[in-house]
Amino acid sequence: MIKKVKFKTFKDLKAQVLRSGLTLPEFLKNYEAVNQGITVEEAEKRMKLRLNVMKKNIENGLKHPNVSRTGLTNGGAYKVKEFFENKGALLLSSEFTEVIMNTLAVSETNACMGRIVAAPTAGACGVLPGALLTIAKHKNISVERLVDALFVSGGIGEVIGKIASLSGAKHGCQAEIGSATSMAAGAIVSIFSDDIDAIESAAAFAMKNLLGLVCDPIGGYVEIPCIKRNVSGAFNAISSAEMALAGIRTVIPFDEVVLAMKRIGEKMSPTLKETAEGGLATTPTAKELVKRIKSG
Ligand code: SF4
Repeated sequence: MIKKVKFKTFKDLKAQVLRSGLTLPEFLKNYEAVNQGITVEEAEKRMKLRLNVMKKNIENGLKHPNVSRTGLTNGGAYKVKEFFENKGALLLSSEFTEVIMNTLAVSETNACMGRIVAAPTAGACGVLPGALLTIAKHKNISVERLVDALFVSGGIGEVIGKIASLSGAKHGCQAEIGSATSMAAGAIVSIFSDDIDAIESAAAFAMKNLLGLVCDPIGGYVEIPCIKRNVSGAFNAISSAEMALAGIRTVIPFDEVVLAMKRIGEKMSPTLKETAEGGLATTPTAKELVKRIKSG
């Protein structure tokens, strides 16, 4: 068991992991246990509960069309599933289609007020399970390894939270979907490799790809564009992970990428930070939709 530790940056975290002789997931499990004052077994048990919520979200989210109170969410996951069952994968492989429907299933559950795991936020909750659990299913990954991967995603999220934030209201959607994709990319790599540099690179690629992404939900409801952004986030995570696993390394360290995200977020107009006063939220169609929702 490690002693009580703190880390503020990925560089910090990496140095402590290397000193400890543990792998990143082992270190983060111990870190969680020490800082929460619980055993490693209890920390694993709690993470497994979160994993089970994610699995249920996918299962239940595909059982029937999910329709939200506003009507902005209208059974997208179910539609993709039905199409897939009747006609098979349309463009690429079944795995590709499953990432889409699984991610939609989780995000739509959130839009319909179901219980989800905010990873790192409710609006971005589909990215991690959509990407990670679909890969896990097709690669026969054990529950234990998945639990370990969730600790890695948590560690990456913690670094982002400490350097910048995980809030769309503070730094735009790059801090929400961007963070979720970094967390998912690093988690995916950790399933296949203990190489901490590969994990860092995947997280950095994912965030770099979404720098500047604004938060502009129609009517302030976390539905459009959030739900489909989760899908693109899931694919961003997978492609980032694959590049890192193939040996490509980030030129800009993850900490600096996150710092850039913070600086961009600070320069972003407040109209593009969850206020629904800019971007897609102010298109004529969006305004019309909001009027219709409000008039019942
Ligand atoms: S657009 Fe805003 S509310 Fe929607 S997922 Fe992104 S940060 Fe969250």
